[in-house]
Amino acid sequence: MNAATPTSAPLQSAGARLAAVRHACDRAAAESGRKGGDVTLICVSKTFGSEEIAPVLEAGHRVFGENRVQEASGKWPALQERFGGVSLHLIGPLQSNKVREAVALFDVIHTLDRPSLAEALAREIDRTGRKPELFIQVNTGEEPQKAGVTPADADDFIARCRGEFGLEIIGLMCIPPVQDPPSPHFALLGKIAARNGLSRLSMGMSGDFEQAIMLGATHVRVGSAIFGSRA
Ligand SMILES: *Cc1c(COP(=O)(O)O)cnc(C)c1O
Repeated sequence: MNAATPTSAPLQSAGARLAAVRHACDRAAAESGRKGGDVTLICVSKTFGSEEIAPVLEAGHRVFGENRVQEASGKWPALQERFGGVSLHLIGPLQSNKVREAVALFDVIHTLDRPSLAEALAREIDRTGRKPELFIQVNTGEEPQKAGVTPADADDFIARCRGEFGLEIIGLMCIPPVQDPPSPHFALLGKIAARNGLSRLSMGMSGDFEQAIMLGATHVRVGSAIFGSRA
């Protein structure tokens, strides 16, 4: 557990917890020879309402993550109108029938994981001219219940996305199995990215974002350490 864990300071505000997480990110980046600005902190606001999200926006943060298209389209348009310059990241599974809504709302999609979705995204990007940044999700733990391409299929899928579907891929994302030490999964993701010429890594959550940064994360997805635990 890191110093930013909310249970250690239940009376802190979300803004104070945000500052603590930001500080921990900067420290981990510095320890691994990078600048704090090289790591994008995505505040994961899923399950929290506008009144809980607003203080984090008021503290100046503008990068947020949601895992459901439906939930995000219910609360974010009003917040985006009230606070300019928000960057919204989809970090949960995307169904092909939600692609239109997702491309309209999200600036970054972290969960591209199958040819049918690649095809639907390519079509929608073509149709609208809106072009969210795309990460491919890799199921590094090869868990049957989890989304993502297997490590063995990753190189092929990345090549297909680029070649067959003409998509620009910016990086890879993973969610390590809860029961495993996360570092080997982070290292594996970094290896697959490097051999495919991808420079961004979306990895690390509340419990392990510092380890992820040490292993090259450029995007960390942190929810409970900022917003408190989810119901
Ligand atoms: C919920 C979620 C997170 C944030 O998890 P915390 O442990 O609350 O930081 C990160 N990534 C994904 C994909 C999630 O669904």
